[in-house]
Amino acid sequence: MQHKFSMYNHYGTLRDGSVLIYNVLSSAVAIMSQEEFSSIHKAVPLDAEADLFSAASEMGFVVPAEEDELSKVLALRNSNNYSDKRAGFQILPTTGCNARCFYCYEQGFKASTMTRETIDSTVEFILNYCENMEEVTIAWFGGEPFTCENYIAEISKRLTAEFDRRGTRYFANVITNGALISEKNIDAIVKDYRISSVQITLDGRGEKHLARKGFLDKSVSYQLILNNIALLTRHNVHVMVRINVDRENLEDCLAIFDDLAVLDADKDNLWPYVAPLYSDRSKPNQDCFGKDELSDVFTKVYKKMIDTGFIQTVNGLPMNFSNATCCAKMLNNFVISPEGDISKCEHLLNVPEEVIGHVSSGIVFNSAMAKWSDANIPEQCKTCSYLPVCQAGCTAAETRGFGFGRCSYIAFVHDAIIEAANYLLERSEE
Ligand code: SF4
Ligand code: SF4
Repeated sequence: MQHKFSMYNHYGTLRDGSVLIYNVLSSAVAIMSQEEFSSIHKAVPLDAEADLFSAASEMGFVVPAEEDELSKVLALRNSNNYSDKRAGFQILPTTGCNARCFYCYEQGFKASTMTRETIDSTVEFILNYCENMEEVTIAWFGGEPFTCENYIAEISKRLTAEFDRRGTRYFANVITNGALISEKNIDAIVKDYRISSVQITLDGRGEKHLARKGFLDKSVSYQLILNNIALLTRHNVHVMVRINVDRENLEDCLAIFDDLAVLDADKDNLWPYVAPLYSDRSKPNQDCFGKDELSDVFTKVYKKMIDTGFIQTVNGLPMNFSNATCCAKMLNNFVISPEGDISKCEHLLNVPEEVIGHVSSGIVFNSAMAKWSDANIPEQCKTCSYLPVCQAGCTAAETRGFGFGRCSYIAFVHDAIIEAANYLLERSEE
């Protein structure tokens, strides 16, 4: 059979002369000699390398010559985006917040909170919409959702009672600043709200975090947030610690990994990662990194994560297939605002033409809904070697003009990945 080199391979030469190759569709990673790589690159097996070639084929580095790799990625993408078995709802019980992050895109929004009527309609809407679903995920978002914890409690109770009766699998997660989590509500978070995954943001170490967050309650400390992260992990909640970096706090943020490494946490549930802050193109913030700088930034980040044990093998680097990058593109995924308006993306909350319905009246398949349901992807993504991991990126970032545009940061950190692999290898040889 004729083969070809997969269009989703990425590779680089390591300092010892060997080649690191990874494929973002199969998620395979390998290190091989230049000669072996040359055989695979040309997709021509030499007799002596027959075993290697068949391994490369199993790992997806070479594929049958007639394979339409793009169509395969799109088929997987569509099976995920158009599943009629799963639904997701991002609920904002409030846009009010107990902090004032300087970068918050909700700045300028008038803070609002759900009314009794909207709570009732939200529950009814979700239960009706999910009549035949096998799995439902609720994502709590705000503002700070825990400032309305009684709403989380009530909506969770009513939804779980009915979904349990129906035998529907129920999952919940929350994006929070972590200040309102404590020993007092941890049992309710886990058992009553069934929250199994939490994202907490850190903006720096110690005072830097507090200065950037601007908590209204001045008794909130950096250590309190760390303690709450640890508390969640010990209750078997998966905690993604999002560390927001820019030029002004990068070195400080790297030190957060030292603090996390010594935390009294269940490390299997602790997943820190770094996210570069971004600004609107109309109001560029000079402190934000440009995409050309991301490889240098992530070279430092990955080295620190390796030193502190948060990356132990090359599998900890972003080389893997992902089918879940933009929830707005999933047909049965919706954002519910405190007013009960339904849209597809939390970044488009204040955009009237993006509203696709209301919890009291349901969804209208209008032009906004049609746009988000379109299976087509942009032309540049069809030939892009990062498609299986980026999934055609962020439409909101492109259309609303923020961040790095449509493309994921992953498309800009190849050199950092190769350098991290070098560093891991050198450490393992010490
Ligand atoms: S369009 Fe962008 S911001 Fe909106 S859900 Fe998708 S990835 Fe997230
Ligand atoms: S958005 Fe950018 S990085 Fe992502 S698949 Fe499209 S071209 Fe590639």
